Amino acid sequence: MSSPNQYFVLIVPACAALLGIAMIYCWSRLRDHRYLLWIASGYIATAIPMGIHSLMPTELLARWTLPLSSMYLLGVWAMAQGVALRFGGRSHVGGACLIMATTLGLLFYFSRVDDQLWLRLLILNSGLALLVALPAKTILYGHAPTLPLRTLLRASYLIVLIYAFIRVAILATVIPHDGQLELTRSGFWLLMLATNMFISIWLALAILTSTAMSIVQTLDHERSRDPLTRLLNRRAFFEQVKKRLELYGHNGWAVLTCDLDHFKSLNDTWGHAAGDRALREFGALLARTVRQDDLAARFGGEEFVMLIRSTSLHTAVLVAERLRSSVMNLPIAATAHTLTASFGVVQLNSNGDINQAIEQADRLLYEAKHAGRNKVIWRAS
Ligand code: GH3
Ligand code: MG
Ligand code: MG
Repeated sequence: MSSPNQYFVLIVPACAALLGIAMIYCWSRLRDHRYLLWIASGYIATAIPMGIHSLMPTELLARWTLPLSSMYLLGVWAMAQGVALRFGGRSHVGGACLIMATTLGLLFYFSRVDDQLWLRLLILNSGLALLVALPAKTILYGHAPTLPLRTLLRASYLIVLIYAFIRVAILATVIPHDGQLELTRSGFWLLMLATNMFISIWLALAILTSTAMSIVQTLDHERSRDPLTRLLNRRAFFEQVKKRLELYGHNGWAVLTCDLDHFKSLNDTWGHAAGDRALREFGALLARTVRQDDLAARFGGEEFVMLIRSTSLHTAVLVAERLRSSVMNLPIAATAHTLTASFGVVQLNSNGDINQAIEQADRLLYEAKHAGRNKVIWRAS
């Protein structure tokens, strides 16, 4: 009943199933990436009917239309849903149910009442194309993930979408309508399988690349952040300073160092957890204060450093004064503590020596502590 060619074409569904299994494995390790599970289910759900179809003689196709088509429809919907999830949205469930019910209803008619293989192919592929198109808006206008992955994933989705409609157009025009079609032994079927294989591999690689890049980005982000305050850590601060100075030059920068006052007594009186809450609140205050080109970092326990883009030292001093008065209003949950901080502010020299500027600002900060704390001391270089 089956020629060796037909066994050979099983390579396509086998590949799709393997890609699905690989994605399930990735998902089992990265539970946050839920879209992988949807896309994997899509690959496996379409691989099964594709494999059965490849082995099935044309005479049996009508009887198996409904279960096999349901799997194709569900599989393609799951894939579209997965890609939509990757862009922070989802495919419309009501719309998907309507498309699936209409497609299956028509398929039932043209398999049981009026056996028309060509029409069934046209109806099924139209249903599949519509399911792919359903989340188009989310995918084409959604936000995550970052460039250039967004472009790669959108381009891959567009290829799948265009291919789905081209398949419908080919079926409507090129395929003979006379019912003599030996579908699964036809050149059309082989060509469709080959194209499916190419597109499936392309899409899987695009998705897995985007997952890998997201992980690299997350790790990179973690590497440069202080876990408690989410501000830059010391190493990342120096890296970012170097980039800023290369981009904008050495002039027009101020460096601000800051140390919370009597922090040890806050810890001793209200406990270490209260100290941590204070550090988080203060970190959030700095993060709210920095503008696009400024940098804020936690250098050590309760010591912070900022690089501020300001043409005059006066502007940077105003920023420090604003911070100083805001700190006193920070609510530290479950304590009656009023937090204060001392500041040192200097202008960055035209030689751009950031270490020297931090040292100078630290000396001023020390003076602020000696002058009674809760003060900003600055000096023009
Ligand atoms: P000063 O006004 O002179 O700066 O006094 P201080 O008490 O703030 O300074 P000191 O350097 O004596 O103490 C800093 C304290 O900060 C000691 C340390 O236990 C605390 N600390 C450092 N890192 C953390 C942290 O991550 N969480 C908490 N809760 N406390 C921390
Ligand atoms: Mg301190
Ligand atoms: Mg200190």
